[in-house]
Amino acid sequence: MEPLNQNLLRDDVRVGADLDAWLARGGGEGLANALEDPDAIIARIAQADLRGMGGAGFPTHRKWAPVAAAAEGDKYIICNGNEDEPGTFKDRFLLEHTPHQVIEGALIAAAATRANHVVLYVNPHQQRSLAVTRQAVQQWHEHPLFDAIGQWVGKPLSLRVVPSSGLYIGGEETAVIASVEGGFPFPRRKPPFPAEQGVFGAPTIVNNTETLAHVPGILRHGAQWFWDLGIGNAAGTKLYSLSGDVLRPGLYELPMGTSLETLVFQYGGGMLLDREFKAVFTGGPSNTLLTRRDLDVALDFDSVRQRSSRLGTGAMIVVSEGTSIVRKVAEYVSFFAQGSCGQCPSCKGGTFQLMRLLNRVDTGRGVRADLDALANLCRILPGSGRCGLIDGAVTVVESSIGQFRDEYEALLMA
Ligand code: SF4
Repeated sequence: MEPLNQNLLRDDVRVGADLDAWLARGGGEGLANALEDPDAIIARIAQADLRGMGGAGFPTHRKWAPVAAAAEGDKYIICNGNEDEPGTFKDRFLLEHTPHQVIEGALIAAAATRANHVVLYVNPHQQRSLAVTRQAVQQWHEHPLFDAIGQWVGKPLSLRVVPSSGLYIGGEETAVIASVEGGFPFPRRKPPFPAEQGVFGAPTIVNNTETLAHVPGILRHGAQWFWDLGIGNAAGTKLYSLSGDVLRPGLYELPMGTSLETLVFQYGGGMLLDREFKAVFTGGPSNTLLTRRDLDVALDFDSVRQRSSRLGTGAMIVVSEGTSIVRKVAEYVSFFAQGSCGQCPSCKGGTFQLMRLLNRVDTGRGVRADLDALANLCRILPGSGRCGLIDGAVTVVESSIGQFRDEYEALLMA
């Protein structure tokens, strides 16, 4: 079955850095509409119920409104393209193939909030993304719409690409700000939130790349168009990065609210080697696992939350019977341990301990006391760090032990 590709991934919008080709396909219309009544942009984003596509699904207009209301002065819009989590590969595709859609979304955000700095924060390990976005930015500098935004904002508009550190933690919202300021991407506690105190103390919005890519369509076609793309109570489409034990892994743009079963079996082609579906690491490997009984769940932020998990980035790493959950979790926790920035002793030491215990169990050297120690760490570590990394690592361990305890126990030494 063909992917629907309703909005973001259509063949005809994959024009790379060619701004003229983007404009010839209707690009720029959303921005032109926005500039006719910039004060109404946030209301239109609210009507469309656009959510943040990089994690918690926070309503986009609620991030924008306080920055729009902030006193005049420097303001920043940052497009977060750091994307470095296992199983997530959607932002990279957008930046490489349709960067103008993303930039247009960021410029509309600038018009909505009167922000005079727009930053595309791109992972330098993705060399092509970096090269294409740099070319695309140059072309916008010469376009009349760019000057029109500067006039509305009342200050010269700056649009630039800033390479991220390329570290996983560099994608955390406050770490993005530290990085754009030129420092090491150390996360900090919130509040203050970026809208109050962001880059060099200025009001700042950090939006995921996919979130911004949806914006031009909403301003071009209207909020109802966006609602009509989704299913039930969910608006728009979502990019799902499907990987793991499926026949057709890949990037799929489907209506928000598509069921997990449809994604895995209809679009993903079902399981490799005709194995049984076992589970899926959803939204990246830091959330509660969804299992066979969750195949009917609608993949939208609210429905997945009702199953005590999170849609997150839309990454879906599928695991079949015959693949060890313990091995997978050990790999992901090792990723988190290496990704810890080391500021918080509980995170630095805690992720290392989780990794050590998981590796013992996975390699058949574990004893029951190791399972007890894992459970104890899962009890004491949450909330102990400045950012959510430690909580994410704990969630996946706790969830896997809760749902696949028999697998863990089968690996213990007698
Ligand atoms: Fe760094 Fe971990 Fe603390 Fe986050 S929780 S700030 S990653 S040490």
